[in-house]
Amino acid sequence: MPESFQLHDLDVHFDTFRRAYPRNKNVDAKVRQTLQLLRDRGDLGFLGGGRYRRLVPRPESSTAIDFACAAHLRSPSQRARVALETWANLNLWCYRCGNPTLIALPPNAPVSDLLCPACRAEYQVKSKNGRFGNAIVGAAFEPLMERLSARTLPDYLLIEYEADRSQVMLLNAIQGGELTPDRIAPRKPLSSSARRAGWKGCTIHIEGLPQLEIVGPRFVLRP
Ligand SMILES: [Zn+2]
Repeated sequence: MPESFQLHDLDVHFDTFRRAYPRNKNVDAKVRQTLQLLRDRGDLGFLGGGRYRRLVPRPESSTAIDFACAAHLRSPSQRARVALETWANLNLWCYRCGNPTLIALPPNAPVSDLLCPACRAEYQVKSKNGRFGNAIVGAAFEPLMERLSARTLPDYLLIEYEADRSQVMLLNAIQGGELTPDRIAPRKPLSSSARRAGWKGCTIHIEGLPQLEIVGPRFVLRP
């Protein structure tokens, strides 16, 4: 949660809580009880009127990636994607409003991965072992075009990392509002033998777009 928040700001997490504790039929009461426990522990201040303030400082951001968090996944590309999304979730902040935390959207969210609970800005994480070229692989084509015409595309967080060293080296952001329809090309639908047969992704051409530097070039000396 952000540094200060209201009870209803927790609503976006309720689906996650219900998935994690399917047998708990009183998630709402459990959340309130947990807030009281956190207050008694000195981690949370009650400001009155359903407003709260976190009293525990957020840990420093780090460029170290923990691949162990995705070790249970079978495909190497999925492991990398989940490890980098987890890194972004734990280490990034909202550069649009300065809120120190972002929350992870459900894995099936079509266009975005992270949400700022304070200003509702959305972010999509793209990661690459090495350097990005002039194009990135986008999400499902149609939902993305819908968000483009509604002018609600998320910002794209382009994370370049080195898998050998488990380090994020560079992170630039492209604002969703910079993308135009001519930059988005549909890809061939997945073949009928694929798990998601007929699913159509897209390619986003990013050449020449302004990029916001979030993590500067970082060089790790070889041991
Ligand atoms: Zn924000």
